[in-house]
Amino acid sequence: MENYIELWEKVLSKIDHSVTPVTYNIWFSKLEPIAFQNDKIILVAPLKQIKSTIEKDFKQVILDALQETSSTITNFEIVTNDEVKYIQQKQNIVLPVEPIKVSSSFNENFTFNNFVVGNSNSLAYNAALAVAENPGKAHNPLFIYGGVGLGKTHLMHAIGNYITNKLPDKKVLYVTTELFVNEFIDMIRNNKYTDIPKNFRDKYRSVDVLMLDDVQFLKNKDATQEELFHTFNDLYNNNKQIILTSDRHPKELTFLEDRLRSRFQTGLTLDISLPDYETRIAILEKKAMNKRFNIKSDLLAFIADNFKSNIRELEGALTKVMFYCQLLEVHADDISIVKEALKEDIGTQEEELTIDTIVDHVCSYYGVNKSDLKGKRKNKKIADARQICTYMIYEMLAIPLTSIGEYFGGRDRTTMLYSKNKIENLILTDKNIATQVKDIKNIINKK
Ligand code: ADP
Ligand code: MG
Repeated sequence: MENYIELWEKVLSKIDHSVTPVTYNIWFSKLEPIAFQNDKIILVAPLKQIKSTIEKDFKQVILDALQETSSTITNFEIVTNDEVKYIQQKQNIVLPVEPIKVSSSFNENFTFNNFVVGNSNSLAYNAALAVAENPGKAHNPLFIYGGVGLGKTHLMHAIGNYITNKLPDKKVLYVTTELFVNEFIDMIRNNKYTDIPKNFRDKYRSVDVLMLDDVQFLKNKDATQEELFHTFNDLYNNNKQIILTSDRHPKELTFLEDRLRSRFQTGLTLDISLPDYETRIAILEKKAMNKRFNIKSDLLAFIADNFKSNIRELEGALTKVMFYCQLLEVHADDISIVKEALKEDIGTQEEELTIDTIVDHVCSYYGVNKSDLKGKRKNKKIADARQICTYMIYEMLAIPLTSIGEYFGGRDRTTMLYSKNKIENLILTDKNIATQVKDIKNIINKK
C-alpha cells in the first residue's frame, strides 16, 4: 500500500489547485497525516476549529481530491492532538510510532532549562536535577507525584536528556506504566507455558536508570506488580537509579501490594502542586519567548487568570492565541482577540447567560417543572425553587426585581424582594442551601 505521507502530498497538490491560496494555507496546510485506517487516511489538526471547519465546509474538497488520487483510500478522518492520544490508547490504528516499543530518546523540549521553577515545583525540580547529576547516588528511588499536566513527565525527560548528554555511558530507560504493563501482558500471553523470557528481564534490569511514569496505572495489574517488585529490587540492590511518578502520594496507592508500596517510599517522595500566579506568568512568558510570539503582558495575565490547574492547558491556550493571531494576521495586543480565540475553553457565560438558562438549571437541579414556577401553585418544592431562581437571577444578572416578578407570572416586587432576602439569609445560616446554590452556580459556569 502506498505511504500515507506521499498520498497526502498528492492530495494536497490537488487541493491546492481547487481552493484559494488563503484557504489552502489556513485550513489545509497545517493538517498532518499520521496513519491509514481501513479506507481512511487519518489527519491531525492542531486546533479543534480547523477540524470543525473542514468537516463543515471542505469535506467534499478532500473527498474529491482523494478520489482522484487513490483507489483504496477514499475517506478521511480528522482528529485533534488530544484525540490522537485517545486513539493511541485504543490502538486500533497503526501509528508510525509503535506504541509498544520503548524508546530511550527524549523529548528535546523537555529539558531542565525549559522548566520554569516556582514554589509549586522547586523541590521536585532540585531533586530531579540532583538525580540527573548523580544517578543511583542522590535519592533512590525518587518519587514525584502531583496532578495532571504539572510537569512530572517533563522532569523525567529532563533527567533523560541531561544524562544522555553528560553521562552518555549510562543506559537510561523511560517507560510509561501503561507500556510496561502492556509489554508484560503481551509477553505472558505469547509465552504461556514458559518463564518470563530473558529479553524482557534483560531490558529492564540492565539499565542504569529506570523511569516509570504514572504508576497509578498498576491498579488491578497484580502480575505486573509482582514483576516490577523484582525488577525494582534488582536495580535497587545494584545501586541503579529508579524514578517514579504518580498522580498521588505512594501511601494513597492502596491498590499496590504492600511490599511494592513500601519500596516506592524508601527514597525521596516529593510533590508538584498547582502553580501560583507568578509561575504561570513566567511559564507563559518563557513559552511566548521561545516561540518568538509578541504578546502584551495584560493578555498573558488574562490567560494566567483563566488556566490555573494544568500547565498543559495553560500552554495550549497560548498556542491557540498565537495561532489565531497568525490566522487573522493581527497583533496580540487586544484582549478581545484572546477572548475570541479561547471562547470555547473558558466559556461564554457572560454573554449568553439568560434568565431562562438559570431557571432551567435550577429546575433540573430540584426536579421541578419550569412552567409550574410561573403558575400559581403553592407547593413548597416549587416555591423554594422559585425563590432560589429569584435570588440567582438577581445576583448573577443584576436584573431588577420587578422584571423578575414579571417573568414569574406577574408577581409583585415585594414578593420578589422577600424571596431574594430569604435565600440571601439562608445562604449564611443553612449549609445545605449554601452548597446547593454553589453547586448550581458551578454547573452554570461550566457551560
Ligand atoms: P504531567 O506529566 O505532570 O501530567 P507534563 O510533564 O506532561 O505533565 O507537562 C505538561 C506540559 O506542561 C508539558 O508541555 C510541559 O512542558 C509543561 N510544563 C509543566 N511544568 C512546566 C514548567 N514548570 N515549566 C515549563 N513547562 C512546564
Ligand atoms: Mg505525565
